[in-house]
Amino acid sequence: MDHVGGLAYYCSQRRFQGMGTGTIICDARIAPAVRGMLDGYHALEQQETPYDIITIEHDQQIKIKNNTSLRGFYTDHTAPSMGYCIVEHRTKLKPEYTDLPQEKLKELKSRGEEITRDLEIPLIAYLGDTAAGPHLVRDDVRKAKIIITECTFFDPGHKGRAKIGKHLHADDIAEWLRVAECEAMVLVHVSRRTHMGEARSQLAQALGGENAERVLFLMDFRSNRERYEKQLAEAGVEPARR
Ligand SMILES: [Zn+2]
Repeated sequence: MDHVGGLAYYCSQRRFQGMGTGTIICDARIAPAVRGMLDGYHALEQQETPYDIITIEHDQQIKIKNNTSLRGFYTDHTAPSMGYCIVEHRTKLKPEYTDLPQEKLKELKSRGEEITRDLEIPLIAYLGDTAAGPHLVRDDVRKAKIIITECTFFDPGHKGRAKIGKHLHADDIAEWLRVAECEAMVLVHVSRRTHMGEARSQLAQALGGENAERVLFLMDFRSNRERYEKQLAEAGVEPARR
């Protein structure tokens, strides 16, 4: 519910605001249940809200705009779960051709020579509910510029709970950050019962002084605002009046 519960509202708001039909990209395994949920709203409201469902399988990708695609991959949770990665595709000259003049390159190309190679730049990786596992260190996750991930437990005594519920614990985040190349890791899914200040200090403890500056809490509005204002000041932009 905390993940798909807003889908009907999303589709209805899109329609309400003249933004067209909502598109839901989802794991093929849960598509029938998602349809059932949306059809339930149809029955409740006695009114049809249109929606499009695009299903994807493990490691399948769909184009979301020129040179950019969304890829889904299985994660590990108590229900079927998928993580996503937004990947930019670029073509680059092969290193052996970089010093050649333009004319020569044209000639090689016209002869059917493959002078470029495809590069993939993972921009954002998103992990919904999941336990730790190999999916956290896939290339398109490990090398993503930004990782948005769940972290549900912070208390050192709650490692068992994290394991049973197939969620991530602050210790998993600390271990992951040693190999993840991201500029920032954004933590979501912190339970309402968790005190933000406590979570922060428990995470700092797990990190042991490493990597703390790369971790942000999505719901930590105060720290995020302070960070944002500092960035504005550094960029020489006046903060907007509140
Ligand atoms: Zn959840």
